[in-house]
Amino acid sequence: MDSPIEEYLHRVHAEISELRDGQPYSVAPKGRSVDPEDFGICLATVDGYVYEVGTTSKEFSMQSLSKPFSYGLALTEHGLEAVDAKVDVEPSGDSFTEISLAPKTGRPANAMINAGALAVASLIKGSGGKTALNRIVDFYSGFTDRQLTSSKGVYNAERRNSDHNHALAFLMSSFGLLESLPTTALETYLRQCAVQITCRDLSLMAATLANSGTNPVTGHEALGVEAVERVLSVMMTSGMYDNAGDWVASVGMPAKSGVGGGTLAVLPGQAGLAVFSPPLDAHGTSVRGEAACRRMSADMEMHFVRSA
Ligand code: GLU
Repeated sequence: MDSPIEEYLHRVHAEISELRDGQPYSVAPKGRSVDPEDFGICLATVDGYVYEVGTTSKEFSMQSLSKPFSYGLALTEHGLEAVDAKVDVEPSGDSFTEISLAPKTGRPANAMINAGALAVASLIKGSGGKTALNRIVDFYSGFTDRQLTSSKGVYNAERRNSDHNHALAFLMSSFGLLESLPTTALETYLRQCAVQITCRDLSLMAATLANSGTNPVTGHEALGVEAVERVLSVMMTSGMYDNAGDWVASVGMPAKSGVGGGTLAVLPGQAGLAVFSPPLDAHGTSVRGEAACRRMSADMEMHFVRSA
């Protein structure tokens, strides 16, 4: 018999399945089709329970969901001050492709827009016999309970469509902001976007952030408390791009979306929520992902003001 939480998730899943708006992201490797009907919701608690409904074990690309995690890795390696010198913590309220660089320094507004994510990617280096990408993938894997991988096919498709990101990387390099060649930062960023996760993985990643950086299933300390605080703060103000103000007012949880169809939301001290559904709205956010987060925040009093 289903627990009350599972029954509730099934109800939300059935109701939100009625939403048919949006279009899936169109950049994909040849032969890899996206099923707009895929729809999963997972709720992982800080004591390690994972409640699942729908499409929860199918892999999809992290895309922009990678940004908060790479930001966490850069903060861990270089400290807050050094990372802040490269990437600000101001909400830009912009779309992910927005340029949003400070006029004289070229410093990007935050690590959740592409410019900021490219600057963060330039800070992550290979070491101990591992490439920067291996280190990133291993770091992300620490937030879930299995070894993740980055898809070469997805990377190649992204690369063929990366003129805008190329331009951003070269522009920032012209300001002297990147710690690597612009092409290296770009490759790292696009390969981190191509990391494959499931909805279940994403809920554990969110629950690890909710649990002050300690993975509730494996006990691994994936990220230190100071970096967790910073990552969640920036996700709160800038995780949902041009929709961020409305998101804070109505959902009230630090969250991040990705064009692969994943959405994560964090209820600090309690749980991580993940939704997978590929059709996207005009902001590049999953239509059902957003609806599920809104609905669950209201029903379960997850808004940071109500849950305090
Ligand atoms: N690969 C995408 C890009 O950088 C990620 C965008 C997203 O998920 O919002 O263009």
